[in-house]
Amino acid sequence: MFDIGVNLTSQEFIRDYDKVVQRAHEAGVTGMIIIGTTMLNSRQAIILAEKDVKYLWSTIGIHPHYASTWSKKINSEMRKLVIHPCIVAVGECGLDFYRNFSTKKEQMYAFQAQIELAIELHMPVFLHCRNAHKDFMSILSPWIPTLKAVLVHCFTGTQSELEVYLENDFYIGITGWICDTKRGADLCKLIPLIPSNRLVIETDSPWLIPKDIFPMPSSRRNEPSFLPHIMQKVAILREDNIVNLSHQTTCNAHALFNLSSNIRDIII
Ligand SMILES: [Zn+2]
Repeated sequence: MFDIGVNLTSQEFIRDYDKVVQRAHEAGVTGMIIIGTTMLNSRQAIILAEKDVKYLWSTIGIHPHYASTWSKKINSEMRKLVIHPCIVAVGECGLDFYRNFSTKKEQMYAFQAQIELAIELHMPVFLHCRNAHKDFMSILSPWIPTLKAVLVHCFTGTQSELEVYLENDFYIGITGWICDTKRGADLCKLIPLIPSNRLVIETDSPWLIPKDIFPMPSSRRNEPSFLPHIMQKVAILREDNIVNLSHQTTCNAHALFNLSSNIRDIII
């Protein structure tokens, strides 16, 4: 099974990074995508991925929270780094009007610029959308026919939002949000509606620990070894078995990020 979204460069993992990755292996996680959310952690993600090239890949992007940092300098730096063989998508980028850590205008500008970069380089986009569906789609729509692939990671939206994404053939990332009986109840109902070839699973570690994990770690830190727990819950909701589901969602991750024909395989 494949974890398509881990924030392994987070401070939360500094002390025991090796053990966290080891536990992911032992739990049956066969690969992970490290999410880049700033220029600094995108660079750190490349360093981590380079150390474990058959297991870790990375994205490069400016998260909407940090959209105010967008500049010509970042744009040109990203252009240089994005061709690194460990990088498999542009993002995490998008819009977050829930927190508005950057202004709406800054978020929209950085989002648009990163979409253009992805198109130019024929790369998939790794997207974040929170409380911004309308603007998100109006920025994205003109580019959809030319985008290689689109992932809406950590989907927590409504049925009508999901339908729009699926009409456009987007991949949908599901996290342990569904393990929260209160907050995740609406999302749980939508899980069976996602076509099996569009579903991918993620922990979004260290955030979003599944609320029903037992025993609950005292740190409440999420980690990729909890992916089977989320997979099990998705399997129940879809009335599928975990082996099929793990296989299918891993194949989807490979197709989405073009991992099998990734240039590094040729280099190695
Ligand atoms: Zn996100």
